[in-house]
Order: sequence, then C-alpha cells, then structure tokens
Amino acid sequence: MSVKTNVLGDLLASIVDGKVEIVDLSQVLNEDTPVIQLPPPFKNTGGFKFLPLSEYDETGPVCYWNDFVAGEHCGTHFDAPVHWVSGKDGDSVDTLQMKNMIGEACVIDITQQAALDPDYCLSMEDIEMFEKEHGEIASQSWVVIHSGWAQYKDDPEKFHNVGEDGQSHTPGITKEASIFLAEKRDILGIGVETVGTDAGIAGSFDPPFPNHHYMHQANKYGIAQLTNVEALPPRGSLLIVNPLKIERGSGSPVRAIALVQK
Ligand code: MN
Repeated sequence: MSVKTNVLGDLLASIVDGKVEIVDLSQVLNEDTPVIQLPPPFKNTGGFKFLPLSEYDETGPVCYWNDFVAGEHCGTHFDAPVHWVSGKDGDSVDTLQMKNMIGEACVIDITQQAALDPDYCLSMEDIEMFEKEHGEIASQSWVVIHSGWAQYKDDPEKFHNVGEDGQSHTPGITKEASIFLAEKRDILGIGVETVGTDAGIAGSFDPPFPNHHYMHQANKYGIAQLTNVEALPPRGSLLIVNPLKIERGSGSPVRAIALVQK
C-alpha cells in the first residue's frame, strides 16, 4: 500500500509562512482599463463597464453589488484557441483542460530591447540564450515575455503607443519564435504584458498576428496584460489562470497569479 506524501499540506504551510509568495499578475479592471484598438472595418470590444445595482440604499439597504459588462478580451485576460480562425476546432474556455491552467513560468526578459525599440519582437536568439542559461523550456510551461510594458498600464496613450503611421508600436514575438515554441516545445502558451500576444504592428506580418495563428492552431493559449512580471524568477514559479467557464467563450478576464518560492 502506498503512503501519500502531504504535498498539498506542505504547500499550504509554505504559503501561510511566506516561504511561497503569491504574486498578483493582474491589472485592476475598471472603465479605464486599456483594451485593444483595431482599425476599421474590424469591430472593437467595449471594454469594461460597471452597472451599479445597490449600495446600502433603498434598493438594497444591507448590500452593495453591481452588474458589469466586459469584453472577453479585456484587462488581464485569457485567449482560448477558438479565438483564432487557425484554432477554430480547438478549445473554448469551457472545454479546455483545467490542469493546463497551471504551469511553470519561463520568463524571458526583453526589457532592454523593448526600451530601445518598441516594435522589438522576442527572437529565436532570445530563446536560445534563455535555454543556454536556464535549461530547455519544459513541458507544461508558460513562456512569459517580460517586455516591461506593464509600466504603461495606467497610461492608455503610452500603453497603445500609436505612432504617426496610425499603428500601435508595442513589443511582441517573431513568427519564427512562435512556430518554434508552438511546434518544438510542449508549452501551454504565451503570456505578455501588452494588450495582445502579438506585436502592435503584427497585423502587417505574414500571416497577420502570427503568434495567435501558430499558438492557437496548436491548441495553445495566450495571456495578455500581465503585470508584476518582474517579481518572477526566470524559471521555477507556477503561473495559474482561471478563465470564466463561458459557454463557447473565446477568452475571459482572469485573475492571474504566480506561486514563487522565496
Ligand atoms: Mn485577447
């Protein structure tokens, strides 16, 4: 007869005594939360709207509560494979395996490159350097692109960084790197600090928005608008997301957290 080790009890004790820190990777969700802005003829999401119900008043003397209206792709949020035409036969948020909502974060730092060039895209060389230093990106990993862009999350103008050409200039990932991670590494998906998992100018790439194309084609996921990524080590933390179980939902706002061993 096997004897169960108390893995969960040990984990909980470590969380309680601070040996494992819980890092909140989520932006505050409010009516000012930046959402992606697509040019015509594309439709845009309405973002987040608060619809107050009662606040300890005659409509509800003992309670405070609200309705809200929110886009699936609003604030810190999850992209399901069906979000993209290349993944239309893949999972929506209600069908994906919940065990895939937790994985090791492999955090690749491109903050210096992105500070010099807002269009910078994580490259194969960046992945090779990361793997040389920290080992091969393992199965059940989230690849988190640490661009530093979350520093602009409360300043929509800088966050979108629309240039005189009318295009958004925000960092992303090259097509080659997306193909490599989607096909040669058994990752869960890509996490980013920007409004979407492709570069701002990636609509002009071939195919357009290649990270969405190749990740979702491989039934892999995306997490956008992460913050506090600098609190994560390059490897070894656990990233957890919990999209709402919206029937046939293409995405969902999430409260993304990470468990970091101190
Ligand atoms: Mn999205």
